[in-house]
Amino acid sequence: MTKASDVRPYWKNFINGEWVDGSEGARIPVTDPATGLKLCEVARGTAADIDRAVAAARACFNSDEWQNMLPHERGALMFRLADELEKAADEVALVECFDNGKTLANGRGEIPLTQRYLRYYGGMADKLEGRQIPLGSGLLDYTILAPYGVSAQIVPWNGPLPVGARSIACALVTGNTVVLKSPEDSPLSLYLLAEACTRAGVPKGAVNIVCGYGAEAGAALAAHKDIDHVVFTGSVETGRSVLRAAAERIIPCVMELGGKSGGIVFPDADIDQTVESAANGIFKHAGQICSAGSRLIVHRSVYDQVVEKLIARAESLNVAPGIEGGDLGPLISERQLERVEALCRVGVEEGATLRTGGSRTKGLDGYFMAPTVFTDVRPDMIIAQDEFFGPVVVVIPFEETEEAIEIANGTDYGLAAGLYTRDLSLAHKVANRLVAGQVYVNQWWAGGVETPFGGMKRSGFGREKGQEALLGYVQTKNVGIKL
Ligand code: NAD
Repeated sequence: MTKASDVRPYWKNFINGEWVDGSEGARIPVTDPATGLKLCEVARGTAADIDRAVAAARACFNSDEWQNMLPHERGALMFRLADELEKAADEVALVECFDNGKTLANGRGEIPLTQRYLRYYGGMADKLEGRQIPLGSGLLDYTILAPYGVSAQIVPWNGPLPVGARSIACALVTGNTVVLKSPEDSPLSLYLLAEACTRAGVPKGAVNIVCGYGAEAGAALAAHKDIDHVVFTGSVETGRSVLRAAAERIIPCVMELGGKSGGIVFPDADIDQTVESAANGIFKHAGQICSAGSRLIVHRSVYDQVVEKLIARAESLNVAPGIEGGDLGPLISERQLERVEALCRVGVEEGATLRTGGSRTKGLDGYFMAPTVFTDVRPDMIIAQDEFFGPVVVVIPFEETEEAIEIANGTDYGLAAGLYTRDLSLAHKVANRLVAGQVYVNQWWAGGVETPFGGMKRSGFGREKGQEALLGYVQTKNVGIKL
């Protein structure tokens, strides 16, 4: 498969191990963002489909097969799933290119990354232990890390496979079952995970994947009366409505929301390395990454130098359909492109200086946005506060370290932050003060599958990745026995 027309024309939902049409027979068209043309159709999941999927997940959760599966067997299942996913590697890379707008290189990276998650959590399945609490010789007391039951997971379009798979892995190794609502804009790679689940022998109903519109299938899942747990990754606005639904039923949530993450450049930083890292941090996947480094806070003494190099880097990037091997591909939709362009116009009206980019790329049919750099940005401007979710970086000057920390912390978000310096003491000091779930020193996204990831403030709560993530999928149960 090397072209969009090779993508399978129709994909069904995966419920109770079966491939099924939407309950009303309706379909959702999926668009190739690099051309604006229809790519394929997927079954449109409705509230009735969510009902069936939750019932299947519940039945599996209650089954002897699931309840009696030993922790090391659940771990082995994740290893088999990772192995089976290998067979879908080429197709995953291509569908990520065509429905998501990823570059082919990034699409190819999705499988090794997803396998890392599956094997990492598979390896931990038999290492989750409770504790014994000493209450004297007449009592035996111990704790169990118990699953919640049916875990409802709602996934955004920008990284559906690794984001979905890491939540599924955490849920399964801790003994939960899953209903996942895949993103309507880029659902395809998760169907390939579902196919791998069948090949790997994941019990029927343990993983159900339903695509549907957010307001329809997503809202029905979040409000379903028989789910026990919610993992939501997406925007703050949608996160609020999911939390309201969860509050009605008092069920726990993991919330992975947006970001407006800032990197501070100190005068002693290696400028070339800093610019390379900062450019990667904002232009990768056209800035459609929740932890993108969308603000650069630069010491006045190196400001001009950093800005000139950053602009040169932005202008050197090849914006092209992912399949053609460009550096960055399109935004996900016309709506997202319009939103990013509109925010750029706001920046100009606010008095920031647009140094490069600022609008869609001419001469391409899809939803391509030019890599954009704004300078003379004040921390209180809308473009320094609102998430673009596009390839737009705002550069803000500072004089004093305290001022830089204040600027970095001065948004509603707290997902990631970074700093560039050769001074290790300064790095420690500033890292301690930054209000963010992850802090990167001298390399944006320093970290990996093993490092806990998640938000502070409006960026959410709970953690994905790392050992900490598993704690979001279990509840402590205490057993006291009078001997
Ligand atoms: P979104 O909130 O619009 O959609 C996310 C998911 O929620 C989709 O599956 C959508 O169908 C569903 N949804 C929409 N309305 C719903 C409703 N009323 N009830 C239930 N579900 C509903 O977000 P998006 O535009 O797909 O993704 C971009 C956002 O996600 C950005 O803000 C980005 O920062 C954030 N994000 C965060 C992380 C993280 O780990 N923190 C990762 C990726 C993306």
